Order: sequence, then C-alpha cells, then structure tokens
Amino acid sequence: MHQVIARTWRPQRFSEVIGQRHITQTLQNALRLNRVAHGYVFSGQRGVGKTTMARLLAKALNCQKGPEPQPEPCGECDSCREIALGRAVDVLEIDAASNRGIDAMRELRENVRYAPARDRYKVFIIDEAHQITTEGFNALLKTLEEPPPHVVFILATTELHELPETILSRCQHFSFHAAKFAEILGHLETICAAEKVQADPQALAALAASAGGSLRDALSRLEQAMAAFGAQLEGTAVLRLLGAVPSQMVEEVFTAVESRNREQLLEIVAKLVEEGYQLPHFCSQLVRTVRNVLVAKLAGPQPHLLEASPEESARLAALAEKFSEEDLMRFLEILLHLHQQLRHTMEPRFQTELGLFKLAEARRLVPIEKILAQMQPESGPSETMRRAPLSSGGQRGPAAGGSSPQPAPGGRVPGGSPRAPGMSPFEQDTLRKQTISEPADHKEGRASEAPLAAEAPPEDIKRASAPHTEAHSREENWASEVMRRLEERQRYGLASMLDGAQWEFGEGEVRIRWEGAGIAKAMPEQDRQTLEQLVSETLGHKIRLRLTEEPPTGAMPGKGRRAGKLPSQAEPAMDPEVEVQVRQDPEVREFEQLFGKPVTGIRRWKG
Ligand SMILES: [Zn+2]
Repeated sequence: MHQVIARTWRPQRFSEVIGQRHITQTLQNALRLNRVAHGYVFSGQRGVGKTTMARLLAKALNCQKGPEPQPEPCGECDSCREIALGRAVDVLEIDAASNRGIDAMRELRENVRYAPARDRYKVFIIDEAHQITTEGFNALLKTLEEPPPHVVFILATTELHELPETILSRCQHFSFHAAKFAEILGHLETICAAEKVQADPQALAALAASAGGSLRDALSRLEQAMAAFGAQLEGTAVLRLLGAVPSQMVEEVFTAVESRNREQLLEIVAKLVEEGYQLPHFCSQLVRTVRNVLVAKLAGPQPHLLEASPEESARLAALAEKFSEEDLMRFLEILLHLHQQLRHTMEPRFQTELGLFKLAEARRLVPIEKILAQMQPESGPSETMRRAPLSSGGQRGPAAGGSSPQPAPGGRVPGGSPRAPGMSPFEQDTLRKQTISEPADHKEGRASEAPLAAEAPPEDIKRASAPHTEAHSREENWASEVMRRLEERQRYGLASMLDGAQWEFGEGEVRIRWEGAGIAKAMPEQDRQTLEQLVSETLGHKIRLRLTEEPPTGAMPGKGRRAGKLPSQAEPAMDPEVEVQVRQDPEVREFEQLFGKPVTGIRRWKG
C-alpha cells in the first residue's frame, strides 16, 4: 500500500501537472521551438513537483516518439518508461545533499564530456542544489559556461537565495507555486473517486489543509488515512489521525471568546491536553481559522482565497458575522505570537490558556477605546456636566452619576476650549498629569490672572475659560456643544482650528479669540459663516460671530491654553495661513473622514 497513491498519481505528462501552468507552458513552447536551455533552476517549497517536472522535461527531451524532442512525452517508449522508473542511463539524478563537494562535481564534469549512451540528451537533475559547496559550484560553473550541446542541467532547490549569482545567471529560472488549497482539494477528490474511496468533505478538507501547499504531502496523508481506515474516510477520524482538533472544537473557542467565557476556554484547553492533542498544532488551526474568517469578511465568498471546503466556508461566514475586522486582526496577531511562543515554551498549556484569555480580552479593547472617546463630552450640556471632571484637573469626581461636579483642584481648565478636539485619550491623560504636577501657587496665579489681561472684556461678555467656581460653566457647555456639532458634521479641520481658542459669549455676539496665531485672519469666510450658524443654532438664537486675535506676549499666562500641543521651541512655528490651507485641502479632509478623527498637527517637512 505504501507510496502506491503517490506513485500512481505522479504526473506522467505536462498536462497532468497541477498548479504550475506557468512553467509547463513555457517549457513546452521551448520544446516545440527546439530552444531548450542548457541550465535550469527549479525553485520552490518541498513537495510541489520540482523533481517530477525535471523528469518530465528529461522525458520530453528524449522521448522516442519522434525524431525531435516532444512537447508532450509519450510515456510509452523505452526512454519515457525508464526515466519514470529512474533507470535511464542518460538521465542522472544527483542528490547534492550527499554529493556536494568538488570531487562529485569533478566526476560530473568528466561524465558530461561523454556523449549520451542512447538518448538525445544527457540530463543531470541535481536535487537540493543549494547544498553544493563553493568549490563544487565553481567546478559546476565551468561546465555551465561551455556546456556540450547534448547536456541539460536541472538544479532543483528549496533555497534559491543560496545559489550563487554566477550559476543563476547561466540558467533559466522557474519558481514553483505552492499548490492552492482548492487545487489540492480537487485533486484529492479525483483520486478518491478513482480509487473508490468514500471520503466526506471534512476529511478531504482536513487532508488538504494539512498539506500546507505541498501536493506530495497531501497524497502521502491520503495514503496514510487509507491505510488506517480503508475506503471509508470520516472527517473526525481523519482529523484525529492528522493530530488536528475537530473543527467544532475550534469554533467552540470562538464562541467562548465572543462571550468572554474564560471557564469554557480553560475547559477546552484541558480537554485538548487530556486527549493528547498537540497545542502548537491546535494553535496553527486557530490561526488558519482566523485568517479564513478575516478573508471571508474582507473579500466575501471568494473560494480561491479561502482555504476551506464549501461546507466550511458557510461556517466561516457565520463566524465572520460575530467579529469585527479589528477583532480578527488582533486575534491573528495574538495567535501568531502564541504560535511562536509555543515553540520554545516549557509550559505550552499555560501559554495556550493565556493566549486564549488574550483573545477574549482583545474584544474588550474596542469598547474601551469607545468609552475613552466618549469621556470627551459629546452630546448636550447635561452630558458635558457629567463628564467634565475628567478634563479639569484630572480628578474624576464621584459626580460621574450626573450630579453637579466638584470643583477640581486648581480649578484650571486645560485649554481654552473646554475640550481639546483631536486629542487622544492618552494625550489628554498626559495633559492632565502635567496639570496636576504643576506647583499649586503657580496654578493659583494663573487662575486669577487668566486668561486675558490685555483687554478688559465688557461686562456682558462671559468667558468660557475664565476661572469659575464651578468647574464648567454654561458657556463652556455651549462651546463644547458647538465642537460636537462640528465633528458630527465631520468638519474636523474647522474644529481643530478652534482648539485652544477662547470663547466669549455676549448678548447677540459671540467672540472666538486666539492668541496671536493668525488663524482668525486666515479662516475662510465660508467657514466663519458655518461656525456662526452653528453657534446660533446651539444657543437657540441668532448671534454675530467675531473672530479676534491678541498679540502673543511671553508673559501671557494664558499661553498654556494650548497646553501639550504648543509647538516646541525647536520646531519652527507653522505659518497659520499655510496651516489653514492645509486643513482645507480636500485630501486632508478625506483623510479625516476616513479615520474619523481630525488631523492633530501639521508640521513643516524639514529637508
Ligand atoms: Zn516517449
């Protein structure tokens, strides 16, 4: 029984070769035109048919069906039959793993000189050619430089990069593809039908998947399964034989991950260990599943990309519904890492458990990001009130339930606008810590001086960022509501221009004031109108919007208003007009829409 399948099903003609059409076509054309090269390099992973192709070429060159080389060997003449059996005198197969040195190559050179004993060509098939030593290659090179007309060399290798450039440049190179899952599956189906083997789809898919792109491995595993179970191959049994975990169990992992059921995850691992499954193997099955689910999600039902049987594809599609793209990419990352760890670890069980926990936790990362984002005020004044404490001095008061917030220590609101659009939660955290670490007296001073000493505001003007006894005033809520509405409309560029600005709400007039940034002048009229309308809508009555600027003075305590986002000394300040132009750029806007976040900084490209 051993090797029967592999031998019976070894391609005897170019047309029978699976998955290497790019090579068979080129070779057959060369044969037809009688333009066969003297040196060939066949590269590709193991078990994809490099040696088989080399033998086919040898047969085609020497086939006795006609006076010339045949584009398709007959498979019946003496030459064809002997080559197939590895007995032809003029076709030498050399395993470079055991004949790698200069002596072997010298012997080969000697041999090259003699004319073929019977056939048209002397064909040297050198397997594992990358194992040849440097001296060996040098000796071989001399032959390749001036090959006798009747000689053809075929160098097969899995490690193309280890062949010297001098050799490669004298050979025609063919890169063999790994067989596609569907090709392997189809081939297995054909063989099973011909051999009268009843195999269920799960069994065939498992065999195909276990082959990792090597047709030879697929066939030898099929043979193994037939030796074990005869002509009746059932999925579960075959999986067991291959050491693969049943797909139900793999899917169970994802169900447990989805519901964050860690107990179930522990039980799965316990069961695997009890039943003697190899955890690294299990892990690579998980990787494969996630990869397939991701493909199903991104590319839809495209069977040539999915490494799965049709039946499996349906289940993958169901899994794809449960997880987001981000989830799946995180899973893939975690699992690939776990796979690597499992190679070295002394405690595969614990590593696996930990890895599965990480999968369950990875799903939470998304909501956490969302929650962080929501900590910024985003809807209505009452919401803002509730969330305000986070941005003011960093003390999340017990007020989170919606009662009025306690004044934060220091009472300073970082930034003139009550929120800093475009700041990530981490930036905000940094900012918060900076605020806390400032000396108390400094803060006091700042609070009482701040922020506009230059121009005394009219009585009726209330400032959003002026010190308050309450941490957040009505005015601040208005301002943040305007910001929210801007972002809702995806006017991120406009929103980020307002970052660090002072808002002043008066009777019938609202002023937005920057500190010498030049932004007010640079803002297009259209944007000003949009803003004016939005502010009016927010306040519930028509107002006039004024954009003003005040000269930057070093002594200005309000300078910290753009705290954390102020360009550093080393960095040349951006021309505000340029900045506005950049923010108006359609491409920049498109980016902002794509990422759902404003561009936070614009820098001059140095160089
Ligand atoms: Zn023949």
